[in-house]
Amino acid sequence: MSKSSRRPVLATALALALVGAGVLAAPFPALAQAFPNRAITVIVPFAAGGPTDVINRLVAEGMSKDLGQPVVVENVTGAGGTIAAARVANARPDGYTILAHHIGHATSATLYRNLPYDVEKSFAPLGLVSDAAMTIVARPDFPANDLQGLMAEIKRQGDRLNLAHAGVGGANHLCGVLMQYAAKTNLTTVAFRGSAPVLTEMMAGRIDVFCDQATNTTPFIRDNRIRSYAVTLDRRVEGLNLPTTAEAGEPTIAMSTWHGLYAPAGTPEPVVERLSQAIRAALREERLRARFAELVTEVASQEQATPAAHRRHLAAEVARWRPIIQAAGVYAD
Ligand code: ASP
Repeated sequence: MSKSSRRPVLATALALALVGAGVLAAPFPALAQAFPNRAITVIVPFAAGGPTDVINRLVAEGMSKDLGQPVVVENVTGAGGTIAAARVANARPDGYTILAHHIGHATSATLYRNLPYDVEKSFAPLGLVSDAAMTIVARPDFPANDLQGLMAEIKRQGDRLNLAHAGVGGANHLCGVLMQYAAKTNLTTVAFRGSAPVLTEMMAGRIDVFCDQATNTTPFIRDNRIRSYAVTLDRRVEGLNLPTTAEAGEPTIAMSTWHGLYAPAGTPEPVVERLSQAIRAALREERLRARFAELVTEVASQEQATPAAHRRHLAAEVARWRPIIQAAGVYAD
């Protein structure tokens, strides 16, 4: 070791000894403020292996590389993601516990009338990460060849058919509301803790109808393991040979599912900015981009992956869905 590099080490040791002895009041401010200096936990509100989980594990991996610390995913499921959101709203606002959520965070503001937090004010948005079409699918032996056929069966059989979702307010639930509204009938709904287990049940023939992110359904559609009818966007999506709901005669079944990450409100600005930078770095990673493309999931732009753009998008989505949910009169409580 050279003389010049030994000096800072000695200085550090001396300073730490003084801190230990109570001579110096605080450790070096720069070191104390260095963020992050330990693992970060990303709370994912749905089951492992589903779209929210798959997307955010890839984002977490890229963030970890950029931040130089582990970024660990924890699945906290139930109640359409509101249990996970409550956990993060009440976490220390230090950037070490963050939430990954989707469109359901915006709709929960109206669907749940007694949330123990405020969807907008209790969080510091960090950046959007993705957007994906929903796909309308059914069990492998479902007796319909196209969306009109599926809708006719739904009208004919009503609640003798079952429709899965991953919690009230989740993307599947919202799409199901749009479908039932369009068919003017109610199906028997079955709640799961995420989309991954639904597809297993659907392949076994126990779930009839489902509307889920292309992120999750694409491999099953490509291998013909389930039946597929349409994408819920106003444009076709590359990589899936499906008509849009409008082309198939059901223009009111229209939505896409976006994801973003949040810290608790009150997280210091530099920490918010550092986490947001790490998200943007993760979204530039070739491995993530290739995997998102395979799963027919759009990567958010670098501009969308900023706190300001995410905050604006969340506010717009809360406002967009409020009248739709109120008109449908569906509440989770
Ligand atoms: N697809 C589910 C929902 O949006 C959640 C998931 O498993 O990611 O409701």
